[in-house]
Order: sequence, then structure tokens, then C-alpha cells
Amino acid sequence: MTDYEIVIGLEVHLQLKTKSKVFCGCSTAFGAPPNTHVCPVCLGFPGSLPVLNRDALKLGAKTAIALNCRVEEEIKFDRKNYFYPDLPKAYQISQFSQPLSRHGYLQILFDGKEKRIGITRVHLEEDTGKLFHTQDASLIDFNRSGTPLLEIVSEPDMSSPEEAYLYLTALKSILEYIDVSDCNMEEGSLRCDANVSVRKKGVKELGVKTEIKNMNSFKAVKAALEYEAERQIETIGSGGKITQETRLFDSARGVTEPMRSKEESHDYRYFPEPDLTPFDFAKNILEDVKNEMPELPGPKRKRFMSNYGLSDYDAAVLVSDKAMADYFEKCASLYRNSKIIANWIMGDISAYMKEHGLTIDRLNLKSEYLTGMLDMIDKGVISGKIAKSLLIDSIQTGKDPILLVKEKGLEQITDAGQIDQAVDQVIKENQKIVGDFISGKQNAVMALVGKVMTKTKGKANPRKVIEMLKKRLKGEA
Ligand code: ADP
Ligand code: ZN
Ligand code: MG
Repeated sequence: MTDYEIVIGLEVHLQLKTKSKVFCGCSTAFGAPPNTHVCPVCLGFPGSLPVLNRDALKLGAKTAIALNCRVEEEIKFDRKNYFYPDLPKAYQISQFSQPLSRHGYLQILFDGKEKRIGITRVHLEEDTGKLFHTQDASLIDFNRSGTPLLEIVSEPDMSSPEEAYLYLTALKSILEYIDVSDCNMEEGSLRCDANVSVRKKGVKELGVKTEIKNMNSFKAVKAALEYEAERQIETIGSGGKITQETRLFDSARGVTEPMRSKEESHDYRYFPEPDLTPFDFAKNILEDVKNEMPELPGPKRKRFMSNYGLSDYDAAVLVSDKAMADYFEKCASLYRNSKIIANWIMGDISAYMKEHGLTIDRLNLKSEYLTGMLDMIDKGVISGKIAKSLLIDSIQTGKDPILLVKEKGLEQITDAGQIDQAVDQVIKENQKIVGDFISGKQNAVMALVGKVMTKTKGKANPRKVIEMLKKRLKGEA
């Protein structure tokens, strides 16, 4: 196993978030009754002519810039010819020789180290219709036919399924920042074909690859690659050969199985699309788009580290989700200790969101509620322990923690008299632990602190409790 290295390259198809299709005015809305968003163009009627959607080009340009690609001055479209029932024209309008852009890269963070994964090309094309197979018929829905797709092809630069997973996560994060797609693998707005080969360590040439399809989550991509790399290594190890082919991932069984032998690009007989003339991309689209680019996750991470003194790891987690990064910054403008804010967001708040399947923009917690609560901890109004349950309470009721503390009488007990009383009782009730402490077990005091905290329902100020217990046990009070 360790004699081999794994080589992975990914092809991602992305449905762009345009209102209308790429070559006609039909709506791209998801979930409409079958064949209601169609017209002669996207049904491939003879004589109909495509008209290029400017918004699709803009979103393509945004993506290319965000992926550090060199954007071409002039772009052109080509016909990719093949027959399949979901492709009414028997060719797909795509880009072959002059795509939107090439030679980009994406940065991933692996084991705390940055690694660049090359982007070979980003090009624009149209989606096909969708087939449904029933017992005795196959049905076609052409609503999806002509939806703009961006194909993002990576270099074979990933050397483990884990890196492929990180690449997809980083890519999705960028795509969400620039708001070009819903990036939903389950609804099919993001689809990924994973190419993998293996080779003996030290060998220069790439091994024969297989292409895996049919994964519906990033985890499934990782699992499929793990299985497939292992299969290839075993096959070669036992004297067999890998055939270049397309394989399907069966997520229920966790295996890949052959689907068809892989076609080569010359099989498609690409030729220039005569109904769309070459387009001066740089002049017409690029300048607009450059001004609309938001701050991307990479630069934002660096800024979070220098502005807020966060660690690389904390900054990376916070910026991975734009809404979370925005939330953090709002809180940081209201409360001075950014590290504490980060801890709460990445700790208790993230745990709650995970448990309830929520994202931060759907979480019912105003930034001023979180920071108001942190202020109360600092002022000694509540203990850190109470704060944990107060946070959940505030999320669930949508009420201001300051109000909740008043309503429920959660203020920390700093009053010496009240703590005294509880300490007294605990000492009386726990003579054995007291004995342990007197005979030298310093730690026994913590057990007693715990009991006092229980007695005061977590409201006593722990520092005061320790102070008092120690005094009392040493016979000073
Ligand atoms: P194809 O013509 O089969 O589509 P491409 O050269 O267009 O192949 O590459 C498709 C994807 O496969 C790219 O993401 C590329 O990085 C990746 N790839 C190419 N060769 C290999 C290989 N030997 N092993 C792993 N991935 C590869
Ligand atoms: Zn149409
Ligand atoms: Mg290819």
C-alpha cells in the first residue's frame, strides 16, 4: 500500500444562479412541473437560434477571477457532438479551444500547511435535460436543458482523498462568497466527477486513470476515492492492469463499478458553434466584474489573523462560511476580546448548530445578545457555567440574555453571607472529604467546591467559594 502514491484530479459542474437559461429566456427555477420551462431553443428545434446570456458570462468571469485564472481576451463556443435522449440537439454547446479562462489555482489548508491545487480551465456550457426511468418507460424533463453550467477542471494535483475533500470544501466556500451558485450536491447544482490513478512511488508518468461519477456529497467523493485507489493498488499489486473507464459509485455498498469505457475528446467531433460569434470577453464583461468582487476567504483569513489576533486555525474555520465570518465581525465590533467571541462561536454555538442542523444565518441569536452575555460574565453578573445554558435558552426563546437573567434570577451570588451558609452545610455533610483535605489531599477541596456549586445551582462565584472553603478548612474563619 505505502509503495504507491495516489493522483487525483476533479471536474466540477456548477449550475450558475442566473434567472434564465444560457441561450434562451426560459426560467431556470428548480422544481417546476416537467417540460413547463421550455421553448424551441432549449428543445433543439431546427432553425432556432441561441442568444448568449450576459449574466452567465458575468458569473463565469467572477468564478475565474476568484480561482486566480488567466481570463481570455476573446472566447468562443463549440459544439460537442454526441447522441443521448436528454440532449435534443444531439450536440451540447460548450467551449473547447477558447474557454473563459485557464491556468488558475486554489489554495487548500492541509495539516496546517498551504497547498496550491492547479485549475486547468473554467468553461461555460449548457446542461442537458433529465431522464426518469419507470417500469415500462423512460421519461424526459427538458426544464433543465439549457441551464448554464460552469465546468471547473483541476490539475491532477491532489494526492489523497482527504485533499480532494478539502479542495471541494474550499471551492464551495469561494463559490458561496461570490454567490454564483447554490452549490447543492443533493439538488444537483454542484456535481463532481473524480479522476484517480495510482503509481509506484518515484515513477514520473501518470498511471491509467478511472473516472468516478454518481456521488451526492463531498463525503461520498472521499469514500469513493478511497475505495477506488485501494482497488487500483490491489489490482496492480496482483499483476493486473487498470482499464481507462468511467465507474459509478454505489454509496449503499461503498464500492465503484464499471459503467462504460471512456470516450476520448476526438470522439465528440468538436467544431466551432456557427450561431455564436467569438465574443470580446475582456472588453465587455471583465471590467464590470472586477469591481464587484467581494473579499474572498483567503485574504479574509489573513485579515482576521492580523486585525483580531486570531490563530490561523480559528481564522480558517470562521471564514469558511461567509455568514459566520460576518457574524463574528459584527460581534467583534461590539466586544473587545475577539478570541473569546471566536471560542463561543466555534464552541457552544457551532455545537448547537450542528446538533440542530442549522447555519448561523438561520440561528436565532443576535450578535448583541452574545456580546451582552459576554459583558455579564466579565462583570461577574453570571458565571461562565450559567452562561452556557443561558446561551441555549436565548437561542430557543429569542430573548435577550440580560432579560433572561433577571427573569430567572440567575445573577451570580457574590454575597458572602449566602455563600458562607452553603459552605457551612457542605462541610457538615461531607466530613470524609474534609478529613481527606486535612490529611493532605489538596485536591479534595475541588470536590467540596463542586458540592457548593450544586447547592447554589451554579450561581455562586467559584473563585469566592474556593477562597472561603480554604479559609474555613484551615480554621481561619
Ligand atoms: P479526459 O480527456 O479523460 O476528460 P482530461 O485530461 O480532460 O481527461 O482530465 C480530466 C480530469 O482528470 C482532470 O481533472 C485531470 O486533472 C484529471 N486527470 C487526468 N489524468 C489523470 C491521471 N492520470 N490520474 C488522475 N487524474 C487525472
Ligand atoms: Zn428555452
Ligand atoms: Mg476532459
